[in-house]
Amino acid sequence: MVSTMLSDQIDAKQWERIRALGERVLAGQPLERADAEWLFGLEDPADIQELMVWAGRVRDRCLGRRIHLCSIVNVKSGGCPENCKFCAQSAFYESGTTRHDLMEPGLIVRAAEEAAGHGVHAMGLVAAWRELREGPLLEEICGRFEEMARRVQIRPDASLGLIRSRRVADRLKASGVACYNHNLETSRRFFPQVCDTHAYDERLETIGHLRAAGIGICCGGILGLGESREDRCDLAWSLRDVDPDSVPINILNPIAGTPFEKVPPLSPWEILKTIACFRLILPRPQILVAGGRVVNLRDLQPLIFLAGASALMVGNYLTTVNQPVEQDLRLLKDLELGLMESP
Ligand code: SF4
Repeated sequence: MVSTMLSDQIDAKQWERIRALGERVLAGQPLERADAEWLFGLEDPADIQELMVWAGRVRDRCLGRRIHLCSIVNVKSGGCPENCKFCAQSAFYESGTTRHDLMEPGLIVRAAEEAAGHGVHAMGLVAAWRELREGPLLEEICGRFEEMARRVQIRPDASLGLIRSRRVADRLKASGVACYNHNLETSRRFFPQVCDTHAYDERLETIGHLRAAGIGICCGGILGLGESREDRCDLAWSLRDVDPDSVPINILNPIAGTPFEKVPPLSPWEILKTIACFRLILPRPQILVAGGRVVNLRDLQPLIFLAGASALMVGNYLTTVNQPVEQDLRLLKDLELGLMESP
């Protein structure tokens, strides 16, 4: 009896601090780093649940209850010269992933039409290569964006690797690209253990060129690579400096043949807590739950919206299969969450 009361008192104290931090963010004040670290350290599911309630309120206050849906199409697959240790498309690893050169415009338009038919707001063209330079390939890609914009009512987005000059970003902008995904992936400290064929600063430089060209920034990371909670907090903190429009959160889906194939998975509560912490640290951007959600969260997927997520990647991922779009749409309907309107 005594120990129950003691434990109730401890919970009440924890919850009081969580409530104070939630109210602070709702009042428009940023979290302090020490408070953020404390939130990332929560372990009791009851505490995490309380945190999620506040994160959901912050999402409701800052972004409302309309969910942004996006899809991607892998316009150039496999054979990438970079060595990201989680990635099935790296030429360094034998993952058996499909390889193909730049996809024909007709196939891209068909994928975009299908996505738009499901109420998807944005379609990202994604390519597995190191970087996009000026030249014929840039022109070919821009032609595909122009074709997509002419024929389908969907926001054209891109994820086409490193960009090293403002002129490339300007050309993409002129072809209609609205938002460009380029993730930080993880903390600056942990990044060299994930990839050493390019540097963290090259990623930040890419984001700088895109921003200067007036393209929206989609920048997040991938959880469950073996990083610590401190690394996850660092990633959120770096993202706060980047100030993106959208923050994709991927969760490792270990691919056989890659160096991370045996990394132990994060628990669903750890993932949900991380989403909630990101929402309190980053109240305004879209927080988009992307690859790895089905395999890692399983039946707890609906809780991402309680934890403050405001966007969902639907349809298949780059090298793995997602649950059917219809299932995601039914989930949103059951939760009585709306959809953001098409552009
Ligand atoms: S994550 Fe991107 S850059 Fe890294 S190996 Fe995969 S396709 Fe290449």
